[in-house]
Amino acid sequence: MAVSSRFAAVAWRGVEYSPDAFGDLVARAAGGLARLGLSAGDRVALVVRNCVEGLVADQAVRRIGAYPVAVNWHGAQDEILFVLGDAKVRLALAHQDLWPSGADVPFISIPLTEGETGPDGQLASWAELLAGPRYEGPRGSAETIIYTSGTTGRPKGVRKLSATAGQRARARAMRDLLYGIRDGARVLVVAPLYHAAPLQMAQHTIERGELLVLHERFDAQRFLAAVEEHSITHTFLVPTMFARVLGLPAAVRNAHDVSSLEFVLHAGAPCPPALKHRVIEEWGAIVHEYYGSTELGPVSFATPEDWTAHPGTVGRPLPGVEVAFLDPESGLPGGAQPAELAVSTTAFGDFTYEGLPERRAELQAGDFVSTGDVGYLEDGYLYLSDRIRDLIISGGVNIYPAEVEAVIQELPGVADCAVFGVTDDDLGEVVAALVEPVAVAPVDPAELERHLSARLGRLKRPRVIEFCDSLPREPNGKVRKRLLRAEFEERMK
Ligand code: ATP
Repeated sequence: MAVSSRFAAVAWRGVEYSPDAFGDLVARAAGGLARLGLSAGDRVALVVRNCVEGLVADQAVRRIGAYPVAVNWHGAQDEILFVLGDAKVRLALAHQDLWPSGADVPFISIPLTEGETGPDGQLASWAELLAGPRYEGPRGSAETIIYTSGTTGRPKGVRKLSATAGQRARARAMRDLLYGIRDGARVLVVAPLYHAAPLQMAQHTIERGELLVLHERFDAQRFLAAVEEHSITHTFLVPTMFARVLGLPAAVRNAHDVSSLEFVLHAGAPCPPALKHRVIEEWGAIVHEYYGSTELGPVSFATPEDWTAHPGTVGRPLPGVEVAFLDPESGLPGGAQPAELAVSTTAFGDFTYEGLPERRAELQAGDFVSTGDVGYLEDGYLYLSDRIRDLIISGGVNIYPAEVEAVIQELPGVADCAVFGVTDDDLGEVVAALVEPVAVAPVDPAELERHLSARLGRLKRPRVIEFCDSLPREPNGKVRKRLLRAEFEERMK
């Protein structure tokens, strides 16, 4: 169904919501929440797949000054229960099939089908929440609490502290640059809204009154079809999604006209340069990248021109963002590069971790905050070596997994790979690799061994190599290395 850009704010499952209709839903939902006794400062969990109701709820909770808590519903039931408890939520809005058994938080079920009223035991139905008058109270300015991916440990709830007027203005300008959204833009969001980038892109699009087309989940072919159907101009993808789109047969890719695309943004996980070159070849010089984290927001930004001239860069620090490199001894700025990267938080405002202010304090390094990433600057462009916690120390030598991954990925028979350290009695740690071969003409293990021996020194060469059908990745593209390490170590016992 074609959607008119003049009137639609959000297109969802073939239904268009005009800015007025969407705004009315938000004001009614906010009224409903206030009548249920929710008020400023309360935490309201959103355990929902991408849907228009989830976006309405996110805005309504913020409207009354309460904090939405975006919950990663891809997680196990225990992880969802953990977040509900950790964030001390007073109410949840949930898709019934995602709601964990044993949760003792009052909830409102968001209908999956029209007319569905939800199960017994819910506090009110979604329809009841929207039935009363609109909220007319003071407008809150709280930002959604987002939990980190938990790649390096327990997920932590990131809450932005209130920003000054200058920081808010800078953040608005930054979002204009980062998302590239212009008047008349037509934006497609397919990544889960419990991650910062897709959520902010959706929020920013609605705020600007441009067309937002929302998909419940990413499907490579549906993505291409939607770009063509809605003449999409802007979208956000993570590197794994690039791989999925380019993995479609050429006949399928060529069947869709995606020439309306003018701004594709990616972030969240390293994008192998070979993959990025292929995307640029396929779609042209429209692929933008940013680097950042849930805590610190965007740090750097690379236009397609920046990246083509400086392949592998994550771009230049954003205006107002200062970067520093930490000395490994003192933990303070002034380290030789590559070193742990730290950034100033004064640009867009500071943050804290829900219930863990001491963890936030540990990251402070003088006037800077550590990112947990190792990187360096060259000609004003930032490059990331790896995450400091993924660094492998084998026989006293520092090994960046990203370097070994890049060497493995040089072979055309490799679709994807992950390198990580496993404990070793003798060397402390040794390098292990999990390799996903391509389906057609997969890499030969003996060829891989020969290639690694030719390209890498002894300590950097993986001692253990296993093969798999598909790497375990988070929906934001990050490999679950913590899990892999534990599994490998268990098998090696
Ligand atoms: P946790 O702190 O729970 O382990 P996390 O650090 O994975 O979670 P996120 O905020 O989701 O939490 O991820 C931020 C990290 O993602 C960055 O520190 C960086 O390592 C990685 N990242 C983000 N953008 C890019 C990019 N463009 N290129 C490479 N890595 C990126």
